[in-house]
Amino acid sequence: MIAVSGIHKHFGGFRAVDGATLNIATGSITGLIGPNGAGKTTLFNVIAGTLAPTSGRIEMDGEDITGLAPHELFHKGLLRTFQIAHEFGSLSVRENLMMVPPAQSGERLWSAWFHRARIAREEEALLRKADEVLEFLTIDHLKDERAGNLSGGQKKLLELGRTMMVDAKIVFLDEVGAGVNRTLLGTIGDAIQRLNKERGYTFCMIEHDMDFIGRLCDPVIVMAEGQVMAQGRIDEIKANEQVIEAYLGT
Ligand code: ADP
Repeated sequence: MIAVSGIHKHFGGFRAVDGATLNIATGSITGLIGPNGAGKTTLFNVIAGTLAPTSGRIEMDGEDITGLAPHELFHKGLLRTFQIAHEFGSLSVRENLMMVPPAQSGERLWSAWFHRARIAREEEALLRKADEVLEFLTIDHLKDERAGNLSGGQKKLLELGRTMMVDAKIVFLDEVGAGVNRTLLGTIGDAIQRLNKERGYTFCMIEHDMDFIGRLCDPVIVMAEGQVMAQGRIDEIKANEQVIEAYLGT
């Protein structure tokens, strides 16, 4: 689905990403690991359109998407979540989900007066969709809670839920497991697996928790010093001496 070839991202003279080449297969849950400073987040930012690459090319299903803005990628079904969840704290969990879909008729104010019935129908559909998402994620009991009151792990689930309000094809997850307790980590892992199997989502995730990676990801791609140094199943990666050295070297 995604082909990244020869991506460089330099900050001044510093090569944060230094010729990274990798593929993300349709239907996979691909893990991206590597020591701190390896360039993982920078590469995510380049793929998701928040940073322009210095050079290189990114394709999605054969189409050149290099340098497209996040909202353009969003319309193509490419979404990313952030290490720190971005919720609207004073809105309810359900309202947060309803904020997501773009280009609702309600946004076109000039026509709103003429189309009240249609807008009401659309709002009703949005509500139903939000409730369905909450049920899927097993957090329907939190629907009226203010999003600002959620725990870190619950916010991560909400972030996943927001990707379900649009028809995402591929979701880039940035350390979705960081700082989340074991129970919620299990719930998040289940949601990722079910979205993958039942809804056909492809995932690419940066993660430090090797157990979490081992449970979910195949293949696992290892970055070090701005480049891809290995790729394989988690057991192959764990036995790879170059990988072990890259981790010990930090
Ligand atoms: P990782 O996610 O693998 O820990 P990052 O992509 O965050 O790695 O960072 C790779 C390197 O690029 C680090 O040395 C970091 O300090 C540097 N870096 C990241 N963003 C910037 C920036 N905006 N300006 C300068 N250096 C940066």
